[in-house]
Amino acid sequence: MNFFRELWEALIYFLFPPRCPVCREIVDERYRLCEACDKKILRLDLYDRAPAPIDSVLRVTKYHDGSRDMLRKLKFDNDLRVIPALKKILDDASDRKEILQLLSCVNFAVPVPLHEIRFKERGFNQTEKIFGEWLAKKNLPLKNLLIRTRETPRLYKLGKSDREKILSGAFAPAEDVDLRGQKILIVDDIFTTGTTCKECGKVLRSLGAEKIFVLAFAADFGENFQSR
Ligand SMILES: [Zn+2]
Repeated sequence: MNFFRELWEALIYFLFPPRCPVCREIVDERYRLCEACDKKILRLDLYDRAPAPIDSVLRVTKYHDGSRDMLRKLKFDNDLRVIPALKKILDDASDRKEILQLLSCVNFAVPVPLHEIRFKERGFNQTEKIFGEWLAKKNLPLKNLLIRTRETPRLYKLGKSDREKILSGAFAPAEDVDLRGQKILIVDDIFTTGTTCKECGKVLRSLGAEKIFVLAFAADFGENFQSR
């Protein structure tokens, strides 16, 4: 029995070897990045010049190369096959002191919400897909305290001032809650100009939130990466 099982697994491995989710290079372990992609991705970087009312932003990766390709597949092609690779990157960063410090000083997490129409179209909130299980493992509740009141066009091609106009007032509380004294972690998939998180932060602050931090899976802290 064991022999056949091993033979079967060897055959599967031979026919469908694990590949790097970014460049499709063959790798040792499923969902692992290859060495070259792994080197470029950067894990954990803190940004303390975030726009008020955000106190600081911790990014897991640069919004560049590998992470950008995977997040675009997830968001624009609804391709859920990149999720295990994204989760693995997050898991690898799990015990770093920057993460432990951040998680120890917040009460709960809030995902950046999608508009109802976008949610129905996509079928999932990508931020919850990336962070949901991981936060549960870390015993940090994820609360959907915000809603998006307006459907906004895709923002990735727009500059900062256009984004600010479009996103101003685009979020509201999902329920009437008192957040006085609460320290909250906004989780987001992509942080670039910071406009989305800033708008979410404003709503949380208006409900009384004392501290507002952001954990972004990928962020561009103004480096404006020039590849492609
Ligand atoms: Zn690769």
